[in-house]
Parts: sequence; structure tokens; C-alpha cells
Amino acid sequence: MILMSRSSKLSPYLLLTNIGHLLTLRGSARPRRGPVLREIGLIEGAAVLCGGGKIIAAAAEPEILSHPWLRRNKRKVEEVDCRGGVVLPGLIDCHTHPVFTNPRLVDFEKRIGGATYEEILAAGGGIRSSLVGVRQASRAELSARVLDAFQAMLAHGTSTVEAKSGYGLTVEDEIKSLEAVRDAARHWPGTVVPTLLAAHLVPPEYAGKPDAYVDLVCDRLIPQVARKKLASYVDVFCERGAFTLPQSEKILAAARRNGLGTRAHVCQFTPSELEGLLAHKPASLDHMDCVGDEDVAALARQETVAVLLPGANYFLGNKEYPNARRLIDAGVAVALATDYNPGTAPTPSLPFVISAACTHMKMTPAEAIAAATINAAHALGLQDRKGSIEAGKDADLAVFDVADHREIAYWFAWNRCVQMIVCGQKAMGWE
Ligand SMILES: [Zn+2]
Repeated sequence: MILMSRSSKLSPYLLLTNIGHLLTLRGSARPRRGPVLREIGLIEGAAVLCGGGKIIAAAAEPEILSHPWLRRNKRKVEEVDCRGGVVLPGLIDCHTHPVFTNPRLVDFEKRIGGATYEEILAAGGGIRSSLVGVRQASRAELSARVLDAFQAMLAHGTSTVEAKSGYGLTVEDEIKSLEAVRDAARHWPGTVVPTLLAAHLVPPEYAGKPDAYVDLVCDRLIPQVARKKLASYVDVFCERGAFTLPQSEKILAAARRNGLGTRAHVCQFTPSELEGLLAHKPASLDHMDCVGDEDVAALARQETVAVLLPGANYFLGNKEYPNARRLIDAGVAVALATDYNPGTAPTPSLPFVISAACTHMKMTPAEAIAAATINAAHALGLQDRKGSIEAGKDADLAVFDVADHREIAYWFAWNRCVQMIVCGQKAMGWE
């Protein structure tokens, strides 16, 4: 697993006290399914002790204050008063596309005028309109854009981000994009999981010969990216107008041959059978707006996480959203992410996505929070380090200025995240 992050200084010892609701998300080591998704490990009146970048203990405040470690080391510890707020694991955005240069304002207005995603793509807009900007930009320019996005995500409570390439679509420009992600990660306190999404769209140079582009991705790009250790995962956009199921499977097979993990965008606009993709053991299948009953049952038996992206449905102005209730009730492990990208989801805010999941997908606030923390950690293979507040895990903590955790979903488009601790360091919101 390639994880990118800033090399950290020696972490201080922090004692967070006066926590109104502490959401530990502790429990099963497996992805949360069915009724278990609602179990957020709530402790009222809690405290958390961190040191060396890790959680030392998290429990009711009296228990923490009498912790033997704390009694021995009291003078080393800095106390932080959370003023009755909510503390939860740093949010995990397990699906983002941050490597682009410009907002797509022409597409935005066309869509307001009634054009569909596919019509905009066919007219040369959509993903294609981001290609020119990324190809012309220097690595440093791209890296500055990516870092801006990561900082905005941090300000909304996110401390771990999966970041895809996918707007270069040449060997050089995809590698430049992943290097820009790595450069940005070196200046950001959180953790970054890089993903190669060269199979986002067939680039114009390969119009009419998509298989030649698939060969380029499989035979040249994936081996180079693996050799340079620039990505943990390979992703593919399996969709009408992008890549077919056989092409997608070929790309995921090449990823595995080169020692990389797999994930896929699938069933966003048109249904696909998942069996062939599931054979490549993807960490996640993402979007899942129109997935068939048999595939839902198959997913429920797999470790693969279904990542739902309601921000895209919201921004596209769709009436329909992914059917989260059907997936959760069937036992599929569900996560939530922003899908941060210039075409369909220009938001860095996971709290907004959590809110939309509640209002438009009928997830409960507890389910949505678990989907954006522990299950998102599973979607990235980081469940041993992140996604819950338990002794030994990374001290990634988000402090929200609300008295009840349900308010995180309730106050929509209102950022209530006030402080972040990332790998045991004060990372955002401190004087
Ligand atoms: Zn996406």
C-alpha cells in the first residue's frame, strides 16, 4: 500500500476533555453491514488521550482522568477543552478527482439549460474539457490545485483522501498528475491514497480505437506507475461512452499483475453486470445507482465496499439517488464519498454528503457517519489504522461545534467542523 503524507514531527501528548458526544466507531474488524452500520460507539461525556501520533485511550472522562498512563505523564500532556462538542474519527473521503485546473462553467450552464451528462460529453464538454488544462499545466501548478482541495477537505473534517488521476490521459500526463498528488501530500498533514484512473475516458487521440488505448494503459502506463510507486489502486470508468466491461476487466487484470489494488466506477448511468469485475476483488465499486438484484446479493457476500456518491446526483440535478436502503438492508457494506471533481461534484464537504445521504437516500445520521469513517477506511484498505477511535489507531480526530452527532447531518451546507487533530498533531482550527 502506497500512502502519501507529510513526514511528521514528534507528536505531542494531547488530552481531549469535555467531549459531549464521542463517536468511537469501535467494534467489528469487518466492514459494517445491515443493522451494524448504525453502531457508532457513542460515549457521552468522554475524553481521548493521544500520544506518538496514536490513540492511547478513549472512554468516559472519569475513566480517562484516572488512567495510569496519564497519572504517570501528567506534565507532558497538553489538555484541549472540546467545550461539549462532538468528536469523531477524521472523515475519510474514499473517492475524489482533485487533479484538474478549471471549473466547468459552460457545462454547468448547459446542464441548467437542460443538457444531459451524455449530451455534454458528446459535444466535447465533460471530462474532455478538463484535458487541455491538465496537459498544459506544470506539475507544480497541478500540485498547488490539489493541495488547495486537500486543505478545503481538511477544513470540513476530512483527514484521509483517496485521490485519482484521470484528466491527463497520456502516459506523461497521468504520471504528472500522480506526481502532483504526491507533491501535494507532502505538504498536507493528512493521509493520501493515490489511484491511477487513466481509464476515465478514451482520449481524442484514440477516437475509434479504444482497444489501442486500453493496451497503452495496460502495457505501458500501469507498469510504469507501479514501478515508480505512484499509486496504490487502479480505477476504471465502466460506463456507456467510456469503457466496456471486457475493457474494464482487462485493465483491472493488468493492475493485479502489477501488484496494484483495483476499484471501479460502475452502474452510474447504465447498468452493468458486476460478476466479471468482482472476480478482480475490487476494494470498492463506486456510484452503484442502477445495480441489479443478483449483483446486490453477490456484493453482500464480498468484502468489496459499495461507495455511494450522492453529491454527483445532487449537482447533476437528478431526481434519483443510489438506493442505499436496498443495499444496506441486503447486507452490502456501504461507504460515502464526495466524488470531488469539476464536472459532477465540485464540493470538498463530506458533511454535506452525509446530510444528502440522510435526506435523499434515507440513511440515518449514524449510518451515514459510519459510511464516511470506518466503512470508507475499509474501502481503502486502511481499517487497521483509521476510521475509528480505538487504542493503537492513528490519532485522526475531527471536532464539531455541535452538541449532538445528528446535527452533523442536520445543518446542511453549514460547516460545523472547528478543529482537526491529524496523526496526533493540531492540524486545523487552533490559534
Ligand atoms: Zn468518480
